[in-house]
Amino acid sequence: KNIAAAVANYSALPQPQTTPDILYTGLFINNEWHKSKSGKTFGTINPTTEQTIAEIQAGDKEDIDIAVKAARSAFKLGSPWRRMDASERGRLIYRLADLMERDQVYLASLETLDNGKPYSMSYNVDLPTAIKNLRYFAGWADKNHGKTIPMDGDFFTYTRHEPVGVCGQIIPWNFPILMMAWKLGPALATGNTIVLKPAEQTSLTALYIAQLVKEAGFPEGVVNVVPGFGAAGAALANHSDVDKVAFTGSTDVGKLIQLASGNTNLKRVTLELGGKSPNIILGDSDLDYAVETAHFGLFFNMGQCCCAGSRTFVEDKIYDEFVERSAERAKKRTVGNPFDLNTEQGPQVNEEQMEKILGLIQTGKKQGAKLVAGGSRPEGLPGYFVQPTVFADVQDNMTIAREEIFGPVQQLIRFKKLDEVIERANNSDYGLAAAVFTKDLDKANYIVGGLRAGTVWVNTYNALAAQAPFGGYKMSGHGRENGEYALSNYTEVKSVIVKVPQKNS
Ligand code: NAD
Repeated sequence: KNIAAAVANYSALPQPQTTPDILYTGLFINNEWHKSKSGKTFGTINPTTEQTIAEIQAGDKEDIDIAVKAARSAFKLGSPWRRMDASERGRLIYRLADLMERDQVYLASLETLDNGKPYSMSYNVDLPTAIKNLRYFAGWADKNHGKTIPMDGDFFTYTRHEPVGVCGQIIPWNFPILMMAWKLGPALATGNTIVLKPAEQTSLTALYIAQLVKEAGFPEGVVNVVPGFGAAGAALANHSDVDKVAFTGSTDVGKLIQLASGNTNLKRVTLELGGKSPNIILGDSDLDYAVETAHFGLFFNMGQCCCAGSRTFVEDKIYDEFVERSAERAKKRTVGNPFDLNTEQGPQVNEEQMEKILGLIQTGKKQGAKLVAGGSRPEGLPGYFVQPTVFADVQDNMTIAREEIFGPVQQLIRFKKLDEVIERANNSDYGLAAAVFTKDLDKANYIVGGLRAGTVWVNTYNALAAQAPFGGYKMSGHGRENGEYALSNYTEVKSVIVKVPQKNS
């Protein structure tokens, strides 16, 4: 089922809990709940109402040290986790997925409360995708084996795929549950231990899932969750007893994490960063479908997607019609209470993001792009809402065509020739995703071959699944999440070289 269809399928949804209980706000270390050492807390805000939902314990360097010690101890040779059969590790991950499914209404409701994304989406997209992801990696737990390699001379090698060790995982706020699942699944399947830091804007679901980790039966110290600000993430990235950091978030912070690795113990680093993905619509495309899918490719999740199709290149001969229909579609987008099952778009995650987006809209207008839909906050709504916004006549060098907006702002850019559009599409510091729409398979494959991006969609957008690797070229990061490729991020390969005597002695 693709995401667009899932979002549209409201009828079968169970009603959300509009005031879900807030059960966990502490630090989860060694399967127990703790207060922060500093005694500090921070408020997590409901972006729909601008009200504080709860105070969360603010983890900092000292707390990260304690959590890393717990994860190190759980990783010790002979520990229950290290002694556990790989198939049993898989069973625990399956159990975690089952518990998330049991609590799907609650978790989806909590995600909507804390993040602002429509419940129809949390329930129908984020939760099922996260659950499937965990199940996919649970299946890998006892299948991640090495090779036997004949060698020159009287030797052979066998390789062991061993866990990297203690993994720091720093996740963003745009898909809190899903990003947690993307991080936990492959790391646990391959036998690592974890200190995870959720984004400060959206800690609540990560903390609830931490409790499910305990309920599933993971030994203490295997998964630790420390909420807190960037400083807690930086403490993980700079920690000399952390063997690997996996980060999803902004390119600026990604650079700091890579530097921190170089300045400390050269810990392994995988980065999933920003994007400015080109979506190329050829003149022979089914126009209705292309308009709707390009709309979805940008506006999904309030535009807060690293792979958002934020540079929509449209072939000259259909450009004007495409602009008109895209503006019409954006104006019809339902914006409002994310708990309402008919809402397509909730608020942005916080005030800072909303202000950043509104600022970029102003820059777009100043630099001469033509505003054909939206452009400001909707009237009469509290919360961090931004109208679905469409710019036409966007030029490649405009700020809105170069910088990641991370909001509901679509750029429609005109092109004439295939080779020209490939070059222009690649003219970006980023290379996370791209798409091409056409009925001509030869043209599609030609464009696919020319694009410098980690994912290229053909006649679709945002189709993501546990099986398919995902990650970036250039400044969109390195390493691939999902699929078999993700396992290599979490394993060291050990060559065991064995001498084989050629005669009895
Ligand atoms: P961010 O990169 O600052 O935050 C992401 C995570 O990193 C959070 O958990 C945060 O606490 C942590 N962090 C912050 N500073 C850190 C540091 N110095 N060391 C280690 N960890 C640190 O992202 P943001 O400020 O929340 O959003 C800013 C922009 O980043 C957005 O406008 C968007 O362009 C981009 N972004 C991208 C993604 C993505 O999925 N690639 C997700 C969120 C945001």
